[in-house]
Amino acid sequence: MMYRTHTCGELRLSDAGKTVTLSGWVQRLRNLGGMTFIDLRDRYGITQLVVNNEDNNALSRQVKELGREYVVQVTGKVAERSSKNTKIPTGEIEILLDSCKVLNSADLPPFTIEDETDGGEELRMKYRYLDLRRNPARKALELRHKMALEVRKYLSDQNFIEIETPILMKSTPEGARDFVVPSRLNPGQFYALPQSPQVFKQLLMVAGYDRYFQIVKCFRDEDFRADRQPEFTQIDCEMSFVDQEDVLKTFEGLTKHLFKSVRNIDITGDFPRMSYADAMKYYGTDKPDIRFEMRFVDITEVASGKGFRVFDDAEYTGAICAGNCAKYSRKELDQLTDFVKRPQIGAKGLVYVKYNEDGTFKTSVDKFFGEDDFKQWCEMCNAKPGDLLLILAGNKNKTLTALGELRLEMGNRLGLRDKNKFAPLWVVDFPLLEWDEETQRYYAMHHPFTSPKEEDIELLDSDPGAVRANAYDLVINGVEIGGGSIRIHNDVLQQKMFKVLGFTEEEAESQFGFLMNAFKYGAPPHGGVAFGFDRWVSLFAGMDSIREVIAFPKNNAGRDIMNDAPSPISKEQLDELMIELKGEAKKRVL
Ligand code: ASP
Repeated sequence: MMYRTHTCGELRLSDAGKTVTLSGWVQRLRNLGGMTFIDLRDRYGITQLVVNNEDNNALSRQVKELGREYVVQVTGKVAERSSKNTKIPTGEIEILLDSCKVLNSADLPPFTIEDETDGGEELRMKYRYLDLRRNPARKALELRHKMALEVRKYLSDQNFIEIETPILMKSTPEGARDFVVPSRLNPGQFYALPQSPQVFKQLLMVAGYDRYFQIVKCFRDEDFRADRQPEFTQIDCEMSFVDQEDVLKTFEGLTKHLFKSVRNIDITGDFPRMSYADAMKYYGTDKPDIRFEMRFVDITEVASGKGFRVFDDAEYTGAICAGNCAKYSRKELDQLTDFVKRPQIGAKGLVYVKYNEDGTFKTSVDKFFGEDDFKQWCEMCNAKPGDLLLILAGNKNKTLTALGELRLEMGNRLGLRDKNKFAPLWVVDFPLLEWDEETQRYYAMHHPFTSPKEEDIELLDSDPGAVRANAYDLVINGVEIGGGSIRIHNDVLQQKMFKVLGFTEEEAESQFGFLMNAFKYGAPPHGGVAFGFDRWVSLFAGMDSIREVIAFPKNNAGRDIMNDAPSPISKEQLDELMIELKGEAKKRVL
């Protein structure tokens, strides 16, 4: 028996007269003027089936029994439709049914399988296999497939080869907690799941595979943060005999190729570059959305000394010109004040200056400042009559971050963050190290294998915080799409880096001895990058969450709510691993 001669998205007017067999799911059933219409759906589309109830009584009785999402096999003749549906490719035809066989019945789905479904995310994820029948989900996975294919095509053409690296490995620090896997054969010992294949790709460079890539799962056991998944996919790449310029050029090429082949967008010219220092100074973030300007202007100096305590005491006072918004009402300004006062943003208040169309000013600080001050601030911000200045003040880092959030909020309000406009940017010259107040030590801003800029190496001892790294991020529309660095390839410098990071010689040896050892056998200069594949797909799909572009994602608490993982294991399994649970966890044994 042949289940189908065609798919449900395939038949056209030119097929009229053919007898065909289709298999698929019942999307919808309608009874209209003596006819029963059925929409039959599969991955490829929807085809309308029709039964004339008078001509074909037995069959019409049979199809009336069908329910939504039943799986059926039907045979009939392709005919031209009298009322055509121009919205779907099969809309000019319908199938006049001869027979219908139920291959499987279906319970009523817990939400409608439609583009605009009535199911909330929780429900959709619990029944993800039903959710995936919906067009938006299917399109997202198709887009994901196409992107993976284009990545492989482009990089293979550039002589990169895809090499798999282990999932069960020794821990490599990428700044997150490891997921660990107990070893039954080596009781008391654990594998770590890779936070990324970082060390393996570097070892592949030592091995002479000068252009490597891999579309690969990575695992990071992080506390909840929006738009993160404990397992996620990277396009991981590494190259030998390259400097930063070579890497940026190569992956600018990949990025342009993906834009063109997947979204049919030509991105011409070189991607702009911005130093980390400028990104922080002008946008308050290391991933600026440069679809719009609205740069910060530092008015700390000129705004202090006039008796306004908030500005006088501030380490930093920054302004943005929020466009043509002097007409904002009290209510709109109050909303913005509430926005910056949210605990996640943490500003104490918001100062505004309305530069009215008639050249006068209306501000929230009239008591302390005069027209000359407002004029000066407006000039510094390039504001025109009709514009609105928004000003935040306080601790420098916190204020920069808060002003960054306010800038994005204004971008949203002013419609400056169009999902169909793309603005890629390289952020470069990251600091090598980041000081942590809590633990009173330096951490690698990127990871411990990132090389310092040649000219800054001598600062490693005297002023480690000032050392800049050969590290770069690709940012598109304010989303960090990827990041990488030129690596240290010399065992002495690598050892020194571990020391700066507070590793004892023994710790460095036991954790990374294999890498430093490899560097003794002719390690070429090398560097690379990794892109967050899920994020890139969601950016191209215009989706807000990466969960929508992952077939079976975890929820915000890291749980798979469909199959209820993680879950307890049996006493026998634990015994085999020689693991005993402690405290509360004890109750969880199966
Ligand atoms: N392994 C790094 C990461 O996952 C990327 C790289 O340096 O190539 O962020």
